[in-house]
Amino acid sequence: MSRQKLIVGNWKMNGSLADNEALLSGLSAAGGLSSLDVAVCVPSLYLSQVRDCLVSGAIAWGSQNVSEHDSGAYTGEISARMLKEFGVSYGLVGHSERRSLYAETNVLVGQKAKKLLEMGITPIICLGETLGQREAGQTFEVVLGQLEAAVECVGVGKLGKVVLAYEPVWAIGTGLTASPDQVQEVHSYLRGKLALMDANAAISLKILYGGSVKPDNAEALFQQEDVDGGLIGGASLNLIDFLTICHLAVSVTTH
Ligand code: PEP
Repeated sequence: MSRQKLIVGNWKMNGSLADNEALLSGLSAAGGLSSLDVAVCVPSLYLSQVRDCLVSGAIAWGSQNVSEHDSGAYTGEISARMLKEFGVSYGLVGHSERRSLYAETNVLVGQKAKKLLEMGITPIICLGETLGQREAGQTFEVVLGQLEAAVECVGVGKLGKVVLAYEPVWAIGTGLTASPDQVQEVHSYLRGKLALMDANAAISLKILYGGSVKPDNAEALFQQEDVDGGLIGGASLNLIDFLTICHLAVSVTTH
């Protein structure tokens, strides 16, 4: 089965009204992306600007985090319902920066994914091992633990509505990229485990790779059978780099 590739930019805590304007107008003017799904996950404060710039085009937008609660006395938090009001299609959950800097646990990540699903927003559930865990031979065990905890929260029946992003922590923002073989090995392992939970969902579910994806390494990564696109951090802030990565995903799909 061919899964349409998905490229998601993660701006992290970057941007300004002026810089966003330039990036977003370049994105909305870009052509040749019709065989691809593309989204940018932006700081929530900019969702209104992003919606206004992208609403008439094919590029979707998303959040980088969400509260595990519906509403109430949770100062500083943003609910899935609020994100929905701003037309959000995707929400990152469990990014390694959230897990390590804000102590987000596997269960909390699953609860956040559930809240997004309740609002019809596609959670992009990020998984990945640290360098120490990889060197200790624990990669599969770690990603499986992260996956199982998330599935337990969202329910197997909702698996067809999520996206996974395999992001080895040691490759995020470091310039180190996992090799295409290393990535394929983990993606096919995850798809195999998903197949034991829900065979149909395992076939359709997109598994993105993230970790220092750049124009010069994207093609080899996207050519892997179980790599359905990328979660792009640093390179998503540069219009040319991000669009080049998107076009590489298109060319891998069409050749
Ligand atoms: C990310 O933020 O998810 C990411 C993969 O970052 P980078 O591409 O900069 O490594």
